[in-house]
Amino acid sequence: VAHLVPFIEREKGSSARSNGKILLATVKGDVHDIGKNIVGVVLACNNFEVIDLGVMVPCETILKTAVEEDVDIIGLSGLITPSLDEMVHVASEMQRQGIKLPLMIGGATTSRAHTAVKIEPQFQDDLAIYVTDASRSVGISTRLMSDSLKPALVEETRSEYEKIRIRHEKRGNKRALLTYREALDNAFKPDWSRYQPPVPTFTGVKVFDDFPMEELVNYIDWTPFFITWDLAGKFPAILKDEVVGEAATSLYHDARQMLDKLVSEKLIRARAAIGFWPANQINQDDLAIYQDDTRSEVKTTLHHLRQQAPKPEDKPNYSLSDFVAPESSGLPDYVGGFVVTAGIGADQLARQYEQAGDDYNSIMVKALADRLAEAFAECMHEKVRKEYWGYASNEQLSNEELIREKYAGIRPAPGYPACPDHTEKAALSALLNGEENAGVSLTEHFAMMPAASVSGWYFSHPQAKYFGLGKIDKDQLAVYAERKGWSLEEAERWLRPNLA
Ligand code: SAH
Repeated sequence: VAHLVPFIEREKGSSARSNGKILLATVKGDVHDIGKNIVGVVLACNNFEVIDLGVMVPCETILKTAVEEDVDIIGLSGLITPSLDEMVHVASEMQRQGIKLPLMIGGATTSRAHTAVKIEPQFQDDLAIYVTDASRSVGISTRLMSDSLKPALVEETRSEYEKIRIRHEKRGNKRALLTYREALDNAFKPDWSRYQPPVPTFTGVKVFDDFPMEELVNYIDWTPFFITWDLAGKFPAILKDEVVGEAATSLYHDARQMLDKLVSEKLIRARAAIGFWPANQINQDDLAIYQDDTRSEVKTTLHHLRQQAPKPEDKPNYSLSDFVAPESSGLPDYVGGFVVTAGIGADQLARQYEQAGDDYNSIMVKALADRLAEAFAECMHEKVRKEYWGYASNEQLSNEELIREKYAGIRPAPGYPACPDHTEKAALSALLNGEENAGVSLTEHFAMMPAASVSGWYFSHPQAKYFGLGKIDKDQLAVYAERKGWSLEEAERWLRPNLA
């Protein structure tokens, strides 16, 4: 099944769809669906009837359609962490409404552990099962549809998930975190007395309305492109891989052809907004963004979280706010932000291919738009370092060195490990006026639309680095909730994956 390409090409020939009826949906608040599209195609190739409800599908719609269409299996997909909670919600609604259907769970942030610990306990009427990737969906669906094979699958999975839950509980009890106070005392403290923050060439927002696509092509990181298609291996070595080399080469050939078409015929458009603002660290882990260089009035406050896991003696407990000079230092520091998209036109084009029955090219367009968006983020970050912030004007890095993050400064993205709170995208979007300036809006769960978009902060400090927040404790959660103006419940909801 790794050879998806021939599979997809064969799809048109298949006729009988009698193996079962499967409902697929990306949950409410989430817009990503390439993985789910591939699952749909692979299932259709194996004679399953697939109803794909698309993206941002509310729970009620999923369950209503499942009943009306009398489906055999429901498959949920999601990319961002708030989707995890939404899946738990769907599972508990299925239980409450007595919808006795198998539930397949998939997508980037989902996991066997999450399915075992959070979803399965909510849903006992049938099997809730995590599906690692598209290639597994056929085997699992086939067993779920078979009276003779299903009981063993149910038993196997449930006993495996029970073991995971027990392990999870034991580990949870063992793991002692520092108090928030102790973590603060062990913060990363650059020597501000010897530091002069670099001054950006402008403050406020700069808009790129129609960025030249051809500039982006050379910044593409191809390895994730193959992962999207269930082909594992590093680019370019994957093209010569013994097992998947042939499929990868043919896929790459088609991708380059489509890429040329997208660029030369201007079928999709790239837009961006970047900004720099006077900023200082305040309240320990917040960043004050000031109205102007007088720094007398705070325009908005950005909120960050601090690692609470115990560290070896010489290692600090990081927060992104550590990389900006504290107000008390008197240093005029800055923070930058960006939102880039290569998705303007991409979703429409993908839909056209889909409606013409060409799933392969529909998925191809989405996958390439995603790659171009990441390439745009890389390209723009380079321009920021060399030109707009200008603190690394002599930098000369190859594409490979950029992918390996050899640059000075970082561009952490809200929702990623150092800053897992997706809601901070609201502040970023407001600062940049991202909706008007770049055509990128946010869903109720803070996913970006179009899907092929990337946003984040720029930190220039030479010691700034990407890290993972890890687990945080109740003490920090309470302080964070207060700073955000949230109830404790709201804080729990948005930070659930990071709660100890
Ligand atoms: N070259 C890859 C980039 C993948 S994601 C691609 O084309 O897909 C890399 C981006 O994720 C980084 O540029 C940064 O914006 C974000 N990121 C990575 N690690 C992070 C972390 N620990 N915290 C916050 N953001 C992170």
